[in-house]
Amino acid sequence: MVRVEANRRDFLRWLATAGAGLAAAGIVPALFAQEAAAAGTDVVVVLGATVVDGTNGPARPNSAVVLVGDRIAWVGPVSALPHRAGARIVDGRGRYLIPGLWDTHTHGLDYEQLFPPLHVANGVTGIREMWGYTENRAARDKIVRGELPGPRVVMAGSIVDGPVSLLGPPVTQVANAEEGRAAVRTAVAEGADFVKVYFYLPADAYAAIADECRRVGLPFAGHWPYRLRQLDAARAGQRSLEHLFGLPIATSTRRDEFLAILDATPFDPNAKRDFFNLARELDRKAALAYDPVAADSHFAGLRAFGTWLSPTFAVNRVISKPADTYAHDPRLKYISPDIRDYWAGKLPLYTPVTPEQAAQQEAYFETQLRLVGAAHRAGVGVLGGTDCLNPYVFPGFSLHDELDFLVEAGLTPRRALQVVTRDAAAFLGRADSTGTITPGKVADLVLLDADPLADIRAVRRIDTVVTAGRVLDRAALDRMLAGVEAAANQPPPGAAGARSVRVPIGGCC
Ligand SMILES: [Zn+2]
Ligand SMILES: [Zn+2]
Repeated sequence: MVRVEANRRDFLRWLATAGAGLAAAGIVPALFAQEAAAAGTDVVVVLGATVVDGTNGPARPNSAVVLVGDRIAWVGPVSALPHRAGARIVDGRGRYLIPGLWDTHTHGLDYEQLFPPLHVANGVTGIREMWGYTENRAARDKIVRGELPGPRVVMAGSIVDGPVSLLGPPVTQVANAEEGRAAVRTAVAEGADFVKVYFYLPADAYAAIADECRRVGLPFAGHWPYRLRQLDAARAGQRSLEHLFGLPIATSTRRDEFLAILDATPFDPNAKRDFFNLARELDRKAALAYDPVAADSHFAGLRAFGTWLSPTFAVNRVISKPADTYAHDPRLKYISPDIRDYWAGKLPLYTPVTPEQAAQQEAYFETQLRLVGAAHRAGVGVLGGTDCLNPYVFPGFSLHDELDFLVEAGLTPRRALQVVTRDAAAFLGRADSTGTITPGKVADLVLLDADPLADIRAVRRIDTVVTAGRVLDRAALDRMLAGVEAAANQPPPGAAGARSVRVPIGGCC
């Protein structure tokens, strides 16, 4: 016993020295060396894995990754690790260690027993939650306090839309510049990480939101605001454009014709979906008239203004197929009856019915893949988000699908993986703390049984997830999933039907 303690001290002393060396190199704060030396800090070594660290460097076989508390402390070859006494060893031999994944378009965090654990059990250790309200902020706070296992959360404020909106409560509706500024101030007061803008914002309110966000230093992101040209929204500072809405029009020979139609069409308060449906149909038609010259200039503009595309292929794929396609998806066992009912009821609003419509939508989805491939090759930032809580888009699981789609779009497996790790961190302004397997960054990691660089589907073969330094081996992950399944199929406490699903009736959110 005494000898073990001495060994552990030796190990911590060596780590502290290594840590101090890194601190001198500016990689790890000097404070870390003191933390590492502190008695009682959990030390974990992932031993023998091939490290695919999220950078452009080569995969590194037979590596050791040392975690101290919630941080990555040291990464190097197993042969250079002199001590491991007192550490918990995670057997990485024959396995592949990647950074924890980010899903940068999610909803439903407040389904506390379902969504947070489903993200984590699938290796999603960070999310960008796209609609902030009281209940999901409460779920985020529980995760931060360690009361609920779940991913790191970047939280939107309330969605901000115009006086006509496809969304119901708790959307924030603004009619003018002053109300737009007030919405930003509310987002700040509520601790939002960014402001989410939506389709039907009036141009003056949108400009005021952009200006106020700049003034208070808060990013804003969201849907294509139809009353603006996309490059004007990009110029105003919109950080991401969700779902590819408007991208086919912007890259089409029919761009000016179709934009003129939209400009001349009012948002009808008595038929709110009409404009959305018209824009969607024009996008589909525009996709048949791709203009590489228009595309080049559009992509150059997005790149120059630093506006990223968030394709959300997972949800776009679902709505491109007939409504009954996903009715027997095995992942439905993790979804509660209220959500399942909502999904079954709402999906037919979007999906093709006739064989001709189905063929059109199939072709349209293929075009979306090609557009994102072209944008990526042109240097436009691309995000990996799923839009989970929309019909048949599953927390965690669907991010693996999203990775498949990114590869279908033409990204290499390495680039696709970087999109949901390193690139996501850069987009979110968190590159100093997450996104790669680098000393000093948070210990969010996924250990896979197969090589994701050979086949991106290997991301589904999860042996262990580490979230903020907490190690969840396969048995723990399976218990987590079993717990979700049980919770999903329990009658909800309190009055029946008390839950209402916060997804818009008219459009994706
Ligand atoms: Zn959306
Ligand atoms: Zn959404």
